[in-house]
Amino acid sequence: MRQNEERGPRKLIPVSSRFVPRSFCWVTDVVTVAAILFAAPTAAQQAPRTIMAVGAHAGDMELTAGAVLLKQRQLGDRVVILHLSLGERGNPKVAAAAYGAQKRKEAEAAARVLGGDVVFAPYRDGEVPNNDEARRYVADVIRQVKPTLIITHWRESIHRDHAATHAIVVDAVLLAAIEAGSKGEPAHRGARLWYAENWEDTEEFQRYLYVDVSDQMTKWRELVTSYEFVRGGISSFAYLDYYTALATVRGAEARRPQAVAFDIDPLGKRRVLDSVP
Ligand SMILES: [Zn+2]
Repeated sequence: MRQNEERGPRKLIPVSSRFVPRSFCWVTDVVTVAAILFAAPTAAQQAPRTIMAVGAHAGDMELTAGAVLLKQRQLGDRVVILHLSLGERGNPKVAAAAYGAQKRKEAEAAARVLGGDVVFAPYRDGEVPNNDEARRYVADVIRQVKPTLIITHWRESIHRDHAATHAIVVDAVLLAAIEAGSKGEPAHRGARLWYAENWEDTEEFQRYLYVDVSDQMTKWRELVTSYEFVRGGISSFAYLDYYTALATVRGAEARRPQAVAFDIDPLGKRRVLDSVP
C-alpha cells in the first residue's frame, strides 16, 4: 500500500477554498495549480520544514529537484539528500571504485552549494535492492531526518534503480509512520511525497505541481556542475542543456520564466466539492 499524505479525505480541499479548480480545462487547471503554489499561505512559508530528496544515483535529485531545494533552503527550510547509490558505474573510462570516490566528493560539494546535508546509502549502482532491508534502511533515515516532504523518482523508469528507489521510498514512508526505528527513534508521520521529473522516468508521468525557480537557475547551474557527468565528457546525454531547457518549458506552462514540475500519487489529485464552484 502506498502511503501519501497528499491523498485521502483528510487532505481534501473545502469548496470555499481559492484553490478549487474553476474548470476542467487543462490550461485553466495549470494556471490554477500554479496559483496554488505561488500563492501559498504566508504562515506555511514561515514555518521551517525539512525536505528530503531520495535519488537512486548521486546527481539525480540535484538535476531534477535541485532548483526547488535551493529555493526552499533560501526560505529557511532544512534540506537533506539521500543517495541510494553513488552511480559509480556511470563512467566507462574509470573503474567503479575510483569513480565512486569521485562521485562522493562531487555529492559532498553539491551539498555545500545547497547548504544541506547528504546521506549515502550502502547500495551499488545498478543493484539498488528492491527489498525489505532497503525499505527499513530508508525508513530509519526518515525517522532520523523527520521530513515534512520527500521528493523521489516517479514509479515508471527505463532505469531499474530509479523504479526500485520509488518503490522503496513509498513503502519506507509507510514503515516509518507505523513503527519505531532500529535505534529507538519514534515513528514519523506526515511526510508527503512528490515525484520529480526525470528524462529516464517519463512514462505516465503527469505534471501536476509547478514550483517557480526563476531566481534559482544560476545557483542551480553551480549546484549541478559539481558533477563531472553534468559538465560533459562522460555521457553523451546533454544533462545541463536538457534540464535547463526543461525548466524554461515548464516555466512557460506555469507562466513563469522557469519552473520545475512534480507529480504526486493519483489519489492525491482527487477533489470533492460540495457544489459546483
Ligand atoms: Zn539515476
